[in-house]
Amino acid sequence: MAGPGRGMGGPMGRGFLTEEEKANKPKVTWPLLKRILSYLKPYWKQLVIVLICIVLSSALSLLPSVLTGRIIDDGLIKQDMKMLIILIVLSLGVTLGANLIRVAESYLNNWIAQHITFDMRNKMYRHLQQMSQGFFTSNNQGDIITRMTSDISGVERVVTSTFTSILSNTITLVAAVVIMFKENWILALVGVAVIPLFTIPTRWAGKTRWSLTQESQECNDEVNGILNETLSVSGQLLVKLFGKEEYEFARYKDVNHRMIKLNIKESMAGRWFMVIINTFSSVGPMLLYLVGGILMMKYNSTLTVGDITVLVALLGKMYGPVNSLLNIQVEWIRSMALFTRIFEYFDMPIEIKTAEDAILPKAAKGNVRFEHVEFAYSEERKILKDVNFELESGKSIAIVGPSGSGKSTLINLIPRLYDVCGGRVTFDGVDVRKIDLKFLRDNIGIVSQETYLFNGTIRENLLYAKPDATEEEIIEACKKANIYEFIQKQEKGLDAVVGNRGLKLSGGEKQRISIARVLLKNPALFIFDEATASLDSISESKIQEAIDPIIHSRTSILIAHRLSTILAADEILVIKDGVIAERGVHADLVKQGGTYAELYETQFGKALEAE
Ligand code: ATP
Repeated sequence: MAGPGRGMGGPMGRGFLTEEEKANKPKVTWPLLKRILSYLKPYWKQLVIVLICIVLSSALSLLPSVLTGRIIDDGLIKQDMKMLIILIVLSLGVTLGANLIRVAESYLNNWIAQHITFDMRNKMYRHLQQMSQGFFTSNNQGDIITRMTSDISGVERVVTSTFTSILSNTITLVAAVVIMFKENWILALVGVAVIPLFTIPTRWAGKTRWSLTQESQECNDEVNGILNETLSVSGQLLVKLFGKEEYEFARYKDVNHRMIKLNIKESMAGRWFMVIINTFSSVGPMLLYLVGGILMMKYNSTLTVGDITVLVALLGKMYGPVNSLLNIQVEWIRSMALFTRIFEYFDMPIEIKTAEDAILPKAAKGNVRFEHVEFAYSEERKILKDVNFELESGKSIAIVGPSGSGKSTLINLIPRLYDVCGGRVTFDGVDVRKIDLKFLRDNIGIVSQETYLFNGTIRENLLYAKPDATEEEIIEACKKANIYEFIQKQEKGLDAVVGNRGLKLSGGEKQRISIARVLLKNPALFIFDEATASLDSISESKIQEAIDPIIHSRTSILIAHRLSTILAADEILVIKDGVIAERGVHADLVKQGGTYAELYETQFGKALEAE
């Protein structure tokens, strides 16, 4: 049997495109190719060495076949022992040399592939980091991770396998054909002519097995689906309650039966095709012996037994590369699709970034102004409409409003998690889009409703805000956030591990750690998104105790749900349906009898009772 070509899977496996791949064939353009090459460019020296290794190893791997002819003619037939030994040693040496070169080639190849994927991964990570909040909320997290992991790993395969395979198989093939024609053109023609005899049934077999495998895969999915549905806790309950046991069993038995039939068909298809392939692949050498014999015996050709053996051996060496090269188109399409997918991500514009003419102020005061601000996540629905207000530095504002009215959206516009669609937001009198983004975000501290703590120690979580904070600073922040007592009670204190492997923190404790983290950051503007979920009254009052002094000592915006928080602020803004419906202080707003009064009756009043 002929040996396989290098790389690119066998003819039975990945050599065919799925319907989905056929439908989404990428457009290969010169700019796309140039862009791919740009990733190879930094490693061009190594690539040249790989290329030389491939040429050498492919050519050397054919040499033993040529030497076989000389072993027969000059060693065995002429009975020249010395020559025989020299040729045998040479042949073994060449094989060893070719394999050693392959080791070097494979090392370099892997090195290049790893470095290219290293570059791509870093670039992708950096790019994703800069994408706006909107990107992460509108894209599936799984897709993003797939792009980062398996798609980029696919590039590694392209470099180590596809690229090498195309080169080495082409070189082997061309070299084999040239040598064959040099040996004897008539036999070479016969050899080339019989190649389809081998390749056509092989591809035919591959395709049949491929479609059978696809079918059995679908069947397998169906079996798994039935098992998942009917053997799950709620699924089996449904089956029992509706008395569907017999129906489900019949369904299961049916697919199970289909599956075994397919499996038998699949393994037998393999056997039958092997019979055909093996028969056809021995037709080639037999034809060469026959035509060679005729030439030697009837036409007094100078052809020797050794020459015919060389041609037969070279023919054997051609089958693998031919099959592999037939799969090139598929590999090529897959590789291009892979690069296109990756580049699509790279091409997504970074919407929110520091403008070229941005200013980098020396210090921040925390003054915020909203001027005719409009905002929408999508075109269909405006979330904020003509919002105007000013928060002077040192003052505080409480934002209240029904759920979904746009409160969180409004505060997200200040650190530019999103940019406004109309109007502008200013920070210390400058449009936020004209301020250095890092400076802006460094000077805004947000304690959000859903506090995110990394799976590390409390200390690590706190240091995230200020890596060089001293022990005293950390302790002071914890004390101010009213969490120090709790930390002291932990066996490991600040080094207690939070997150799913460590402490189980309550919502209130997490929020207080988050307050401490923001205090360490020491921002000019403090934004507090109060938890809507009800906390127990002790937790609530602890948070309140922590928050009160902050509100009174620095510029703050509070999305408030509790009366005590609202009362701590200098002014109250009532947001309803994306507009500022009312504004003022508590007593006046209650008197007005509008949205605020209603919220007071239904929400804050209740919270007050609870307090
Ligand atoms: P709550 O008090 O319940 O937190 P909220 O007043 O803070 O509500 P927002 O979170 O600002 O309200 O949401 C305002 C509206 O915008 C809601 O209708 C919400 O469904 C929608 N919305 C929020 N975030 C997004 C997003 N990333 N993409 C699309 N729509 C969003």
